Amino acid sequence: KRICVQTLKYPKLVDDLVYMISRIKERTNIPVSACLNPLDKKSLKRLKVAGLGGVGVGLDCASEKIFKKMKPSFKWNDYIKFLNDVTDVFGSGSAHLIAGLGETDEEIIKMFQKIVDINCYPALFAFTPVKGINIDYPQPGIERYRAIQLARYLIVNNMARYEDMVFENGKLSSINILSSVLEDVLKNGKPFQTSGCPDCNRPFYNEKPGGIMYNYPYPLKKDEMKNVKDELKRYLRI
Ligand code: SF4
Repeated sequence: KRICVQTLKYPKLVDDLVYMISRIKERTNIPVSACLNPLDKKSLKRLKVAGLGGVGVGLDCASEKIFKKMKPSFKWNDYIKFLNDVTDVFGSGSAHLIAGLGETDEEIIKMFQKIVDINCYPALFAFTPVKGINIDYPQPGIERYRAIQLARYLIVNNMARYEDMVFENGKLSSINILSSVLEDVLKNGKPFQTSGCPDCNRPFYNEKPGGIMYNYPYPLKKDEMKNVKDELKRYLRI
């Protein structure tokens, strides 16, 4: 349903992408997205003309302080400007955020709201320690991750705002929302599926085939939904 090109930063990137997207578009109408580091607006417009339909931005960090620590060779302000440029050119965009980089619930949830308020869409992933990286954090607890997924879903779908979330020392403790609305949301299980551009499922991006499933790449089954609710209740007053 969607081709997403993951990119690195190098001098001829835009030329290569324009060529690649044009060739894809000669053969198929499948939407093409690209996950990009900041580019200038002119390049974004070239990519759009070539057939690029959407852009994901690897903001990754929930705050400037964490960004400086995790991505020292990039600048926070360049990413925020780029997100705004993506919105100007494409109408919207996805901003990837990773939970588990030392942020509080409040910081990441506030960032969801800021991203939604500029008409972009936060795509949420769990930090996954892999061999060779120099970050000494564990994966986030699944109970905490479920609460953050729920908050993201409510904000993205305008069912609640950051201001409706109750925090205790930065930890999400409850959400001011009608219980009937919450029940409906929990019935459909969508908050716990992979988030991002339409139809993005990035299977096994932050989980092993044997579990734990941080992001489900498919609609949840009944027993999975029950587990998710139990996980949520261990973290949140709902
Ligand atoms: S959200 Fe998915 S489809 Fe969109 S840019 Fe990110 S990985 Fe690609």
